Amino acid sequence: MDDLIQQAAEDLAAAGKVAALTGAGISTESGIPPFRGKGGLWERFDPMEIAHIDAFTRDPARVWNILVKEMKKIVDSAKPNDGHKGLAKLEAMGKLKTVITQNIDGLHQAAGNTDVIEFHGTFAWQRCMDCSQKYETRSVDITEIPPRCSCGGILRPDAVFFGEMIPQDALWRSRQIASDCDLMLVVGTSAVVQPAALMPVVAKESGAKVVEINPERTPLTDEISDYLIMGAAGAVMNQIIEKLEQIS
Ligand code: NAD
Ligand code: ZN
Repeated sequence: MDDLIQQAAEDLAAAGKVAALTGAGISTESGIPPFRGKGGLWERFDPMEIAHIDAFTRDPARVWNILVKEMKKIVDSAKPNDGHKGLAKLEAMGKLKTVITQNIDGLHQAAGNTDVIEFHGTFAWQRCMDCSQKYETRSVDITEIPPRCSCGGILRPDAVFFGEMIPQDALWRSRQIASDCDLMLVVGTSAVVQPAALMPVVAKESGAKVVEINPERTPLTDEISDYLIMGAAGAVMNQIIEKLEQIS
């Protein structure tokens, strides 16, 4: 693994434009459970059932009670960890430009990254299903479920449910960034949710290096990634940055 850390630091030093694609795994060390893998929410819920837009429309109170309330409790108090901070540091060093994230927790912005594409929207805001008025999740009163807008409409997370479209501007920009970078860091994603998992493929086809950081293998490993650094995002990012600082 030490060799791969060295390799990643050298590849980052040589790269002009670096992009990152992140998934739920980068936020596990902040106490936010991933969907898949050990401790994932999916061990307790069926995703297509509970996080599907049809389930929400059918019975918003049920989805609020089972999923959204729990997410709110976790996300309201979560803080960025060394994985997020490492990516913010890479931006400060002038290396990393854009973070494409599948996460909805807002932790990349909290860590200091300034260009974050939220592929699946954000949980930091709730949106009225009738008039589209937005409310900061932290300040939404949940004594009554589902919470409502001042117009009476039901509030829903400003995030993408299963069965909904990816925001077109996020998709369009992500493809641009992926095809334009010379190195893509793929951190903490199981790379099975499409079309996010396509971004490393676009990067690779455009000639970029693809470096994965994940304690487990993914469908990208050996197929698309140049190499996988097997480990937790926080510790691995710390080591890469330490080496990078020695080189540059
Ligand atoms: P995922 O849950 O499918 O996969 C998580 C991946 O992270 C796995 O490959 C796992 O091996 C890896 N991982 C676990 N711990 C890690 C660590 N410490 N460091 C690095 N990697 C680690 O996540 P996904 O690919 O992002 O897809 C799930 C979907 O769920 C996303 O679309 C996202 O919108 C949503 N989601 C978001 C959050 C969040 O905002 N934090 C949390 C759960 C789910
Ligand atoms: Zn409203």
